[in-house]
Amino acid sequence: MSEAPRDARTDEPFCSHCGYVLTGLTESSKCPECGRPLVEVLVRPSLAARGGKRWTSTARIFGTPLIQVALGPHGRERMGRARAVIAVGDIAVGCFAVGSVVSVGVVALGGTLAVGVVSLSALAVGLIAFGGLALGGIACAGLAAGVVAIGGLACGVYAMGGMAIGVHAAGGAAYGAHLITGVRRDPAAVAAFRSLEPFLGSLWPPGQILLIYLRVLAYGAVVAAITAVGVALAYLASSSRTAR
Ligand SMILES: [Zn+2]
Repeated sequence: MSEAPRDARTDEPFCSHCGYVLTGLTESSKCPECGRPLVEVLVRPSLAARGGKRWTSTARIFGTPLIQVALGPHGRERMGRARAVIAVGDIAVGCFAVGSVVSVGVVALGGTLAVGVVSLSALAVGLIAFGGLALGGIACAGLAAGVVAIGGLACGVYAMGGMAIGVHAAGGAAYGAHLITGVRRDPAAVAAFRSLEPFLGSLWPPGQILLIYLRVLAYGAVVAAITAVGVALAYLASSSRTAR
């Protein structure tokens, strides 16, 4: 699967399998040289040379690469898919996943979509989720939905925000069973939010929202630290096994 060296000034499409120049092939669906389907092998130098990165660490944990980086188009791939304990890619899957488009991991950071125990991205899904739009156990976002939802628009069992919708809802505008608003303090809602105070700090008044976010971020950091310790232990166990 060698990528044939091409004159960088030209942008002639070529076969990524055998290097045959495919310019002018309008009637064929296959490379005339090696017979591979054009949809699989056609490459333009300008795309192939667009500087994607691919790197995999030699260190492994029970067969899985410790670190893999896959960013940008590279060869036949339009996107980099990284799958490793620590994965950095356009699409990243790992214990720690950093994705420019999608990240899935225990700790998932970045991209359009992040899914993880702790997730942070434009669209975040997780036990602890931060983002423009967040869905999760504890969701902090412009638009947040979760068991505990804190955001501009919050929907949840415990919802706090500019507009809050929930069983217990506190906000400028609040809708639900038990409400706290500027003009109303339902004792059941006050008690419910008070029960969360040991974990999240005061959920009311709303001026404290930044402090709550910082606390939730700190919980995320704790999860990340525990995961890092787990990875380190697994690495030691793995390397001691291979050393024997
Ligand atoms: Zn070919």
